[in-house]
Amino acid sequence: MSHETATQAAGPQKIVIRNLGLVLSGALENPILDADAIVAVDGRITFIGRGKDADGEGATTIIDAKGSALAPGLIDSHVHPVAGDWTPRQNQLGWIDSNLNGGVTTMISAGEVHTPGRPRDVIGLKALAISAQRQFANFRPSGVKVHAGAPCIEPEMSEQDFKDLADAGVKLLGEVGLGGVKDGPTARRMVAWARKYGIQSTIHTGGPSIPGSGLIDKDVVLEADTDVVGHINGGHTALPDTQIRCICEGCRRGLEIVHNGNERAALYALRTAIEMKQLERVILGTDAPAGS
Ligand SMILES: [Zn+2]
Repeated sequence: MSHETATQAAGPQKIVIRNLGLVLSGALENPILDADAIVAVDGRITFIGRGKDADGEGATTIIDAKGSALAPGLIDSHVHPVAGDWTPRQNQLGWIDSNLNGGVTTMISAGEVHTPGRPRDVIGLKALAISAQRQFANFRPSGVKVHAGAPCIEPEMSEQDFKDLADAGVKLLGEVGLGGVKDGPTARRMVAWARKYGIQSTIHTGGPSIPGSGLIDKDVVLEADTDVVGHINGGHTALPDTQIRCICEGCRRGLEIVHNGNERAALYALRTAIEMKQLERVILGTDAPAGS
């Protein structure tokens, strides 16, 4: 693509993109839009349609897309950030920047579990979650929006702890099963507390991964009733097909497929969702940075 900058005044920024070859909406029910132009003012899209109808008046940037495709930024529903674009367990530097090159503009933490010396006591895990939430709210690596601050639940937590976390701005739970809670009844009680205070939850489905994790099978997944069935295709060891089917059919929660899982199980889960006509439940993540 080529683009020219008309003016770079401090006033309103107006971007006009013309000559798009394909415009994807991101919506399953209407994936391709009848459009070849987009206008955005101060970072918000104000027009999607045909170039002849686009108001280019006062544009500060005009981009000739030369037939390129345009899609909404992708959301990676499962990442494990630690500090900016560095994750020490795998000595991974720049993995967020790399994912941006693949079109990912938003990431959702499934727990800051690769933090060296990760605290497991209640006040420590709350402090880590609140700190991670603040760090990534204040700093976007390469511009990527990372929703972080996702504590992994421990058996000693009380309802008040979930309220405290929510009051402090925490909106996510890390994968249930990566902390000390690995049984259905305790997970279910705590997931309900999280939900009560507006905290979204996910679970580690499948065999163990990092040290301290354990097998989470279909019975625990269904009893815990998290908002998302995290890596239903394993992260990285998948459950048997029969259990994957039980989970798909036994709840209406989100079904997450990750890159760092079993590819055959991923296709099985996807085909099961299609067969059930519930493709809208499927979300995609990476579980990056991998290496557990
Ligand atoms: Zn996991």
